[in-house]
Amino acid sequence: MTQPRNRARQTASATGARSSGLFPAWGSALFPALLPALVPALILALLVTPACSRDAGAPHLAKYVASRDVMSTIATITAIAPDPATASAAMDAAFAALDSVEAHMSAFREESDLGRVNRDAARGPVQVSPETFAVLSEALRFSRLTGGAFDVTVGPLLELWRTCAREDRWPTAEQLDAVRSRVGSERVILDADRRTVAFPVAGMRIDLGAIAKGYAVDRAVAALRAQKIAAGIVEVGGDLVCFGAIPGNLIGEEAEREIESMRTSRAVVAGDPEPWPLGIQSPFGEELLAKVRVREGGVATSGHYRRFTTIAGQRISHIVDPRTGWPVGNPASVTVIATDGLTSDALATGITVLGLEAGLALADSLPGVEAFIIAGQADAPVMKATAGFPEREPLAGRKAEGSAP
Ligand code: ADP
Ligand code: MG
Repeated sequence: MTQPRNRARQTASATGARSSGLFPAWGSALFPALLPALVPALILALLVTPACSRDAGAPHLAKYVASRDVMSTIATITAIAPDPATASAAMDAAFAALDSVEAHMSAFREESDLGRVNRDAARGPVQVSPETFAVLSEALRFSRLTGGAFDVTVGPLLELWRTCAREDRWPTAEQLDAVRSRVGSERVILDADRRTVAFPVAGMRIDLGAIAKGYAVDRAVAALRAQKIAAGIVEVGGDLVCFGAIPGNLIGEEAEREIESMRTSRAVVAGDPEPWPLGIQSPFGEELLAKVRVREGGVATSGHYRRFTTIAGQRISHIVDPRTGWPVGNPASVTVIATDGLTSDALATGITVLGLEAGLALADSLPGVEAFIIAGQADAPVMKATAGFPEREPLAGRKAEGSAP
């Protein structure tokens, strides 16, 4: 399963996850009719090329990559490790961490914490695991932070829009109002002492699809680190956390080419810390727009341009604005970098709902958070980033490997 990549297998290792991550997030079940049309919402393509040992005196670090199905999408773990046994044990622990998050937090499993909450919480408090309680508490915090734009209780609204799309009709104001009476994070009753969740009205539900992937990635990274993996990436359906530094002897071809040109001033040696080069895919096509280098942290992208349905020929996003009840039309894509995966995942969704100006203002106000937003249309894109977002190196014309046709 886990083996060092060689040059022949090349970047497909890391970027291949994109093509198989066809149904990102558990939310895909919300729009089952669309499944064949779905392509990864994930917009980040890893540009690291494979291990090559060119530094004779280097420690024998290699890059190990493995992918598995998790949370209705693909998880890919990249670990820099001294030997296959170390890599394999660490990856097993990391995949187990991902599975555990799914077991607790999938809304589509009847006996998961969320399965039980969504079935029973209107009848009385439902006790959940400490992990689920922590993520729920964070979800409610992000709801307050975004003025209600991020809201894990939007499920009934998504259901209404899904029904309307199936029948190709717009919902009436009355229908929207009726459903909105069952939506609102501020109504969820959490009891920290008992670790319980309760709903004040029947028909509410919680879906952690916009935050749990990021949390799962954080848990998997913690598992890798606990197994003494000093550098790597965990990516689930496009949300990722990278940590540690790429040793100099593992720098990919492309990164090497660039760094070679400045070799006189900066020798590339094993252990030389390098940030991870990540590609940002255009929301309007398959090509990579730009490369950014991220040293450490969570990187997540949200966007509606791939996962949508239609009513009267108009696109209906899978992200809905709980303040209006309507699907979000713009921006097309929001990439957030934060110190952890949970934060980047939640804020990518929340900023998508807030929109270009309010979204950038929020990101600017939060320490350790940077955002890059692509709004407008394919023929007139509007791109804006927070001041601290990494420099975007153009990659015009480069296709995202593994991206769907
Ligand atoms: P993706 O899953 O495509 O990577 P997100 O992280 O943005 O993208 O999560 C989208 C999912 O979040 C939707 O499928 C839906 O279940 C849920 N969702 C939709 N609107 C909101 C919202 N305003 N706040 C929180 N979650 C939302
Ligand atoms: Mg999200």
